[in-house]
Amino acid sequence: MAKDSGIEWTHHTFNPWWGCVKLSPACAHCYAETWARRVGMDLWGGDAPRRFFTEQHWHGPIKWNAEAERQGIRARVFCASMADVFEPRTDLDFWREKLWALIEKTPHLDWLLLTKRPGHIKHVYPWARQARQNVWLGTTAENQRWADRRIERLIAVDARVRFLSCEPLLSAVDLERWLKRDQIGWVIAGGESGGAARPTHPNWIRSLRDQCTKFRVPFHFKQWGHWGPEFQGAATAKMIELQDETGSLERLTWRPKKLSGRILDGHTHDGYPRA
Ligand code: SF4
Repeated sequence: MAKDSGIEWTHHTFNPWWGCVKLSPACAHCYAETWARRVGMDLWGGDAPRRFFTEQHWHGPIKWNAEAERQGIRARVFCASMADVFEPRTDLDFWREKLWALIEKTPHLDWLLLTKRPGHIKHVYPWARQARQNVWLGTTAENQRWADRRIERLIAVDARVRFLSCEPLLSAVDLERWLKRDQIGWVIAGGESGGAARPTHPNWIRSLRDQCTKFRVPFHFKQWGHWGPEFQGAATAKMIELQDETGSLERLTWRPKKLSGRILDGHTHDGYPRA
């Protein structure tokens, strides 16, 4: 649990448990697994245990809800950064039920449930056929293959807002067929950070920005990650050339992710759906 999350697009993060199983290319350098190992916990894989928490941890969002009510705002809670809420595992059902009850008790919080397993939502989520007003459901779309597969499953579920996390973005992704039908209400994009970060071609980000502009869908560019366009800041020793699907070559340099920043063609993109 973290109050005032460091993630740009949320106020808080909440984890109902820690641990997961890797599923797709986006998971290859899962920072949650790295972080858990760093604090001495082996929680990744189908046979590994999960880490659960005490009532004190579960009380955090109740306090955030009271604060949001006092301030007259809606606060966003990202759930979960150290797990996947819809992992198909029966020992998690008890904790999922506890999470649904917590969501009901916190109407001043917008819960952002981001999953790589949208196909499992309908089996365990109580509001799959009638949107819960304080829940936004999102899925990861790191390349076209996983976008096609996951978005179809996400749109089969009712939601106040459906959103996409295109991060780490690993190829061009065409979203027009869903954006033009208002089936997706928010797109977040970003590159990868961490020691083995894979580069993101700037044209892949530009394409998402342009598709969102065309269909008036809010677009949020979170970060370049470690590989950023050459013009952003001083050159470093580590440099690569990356070609996109059209043959366009771009030179990228490796920097700490804070230095790479989040400016795209001279602008930041901080789009959010209306709460
Ligand atoms: S789904 Fe998320 S938490 Fe689970 S392994 Fe993949 S990146 Fe990590």
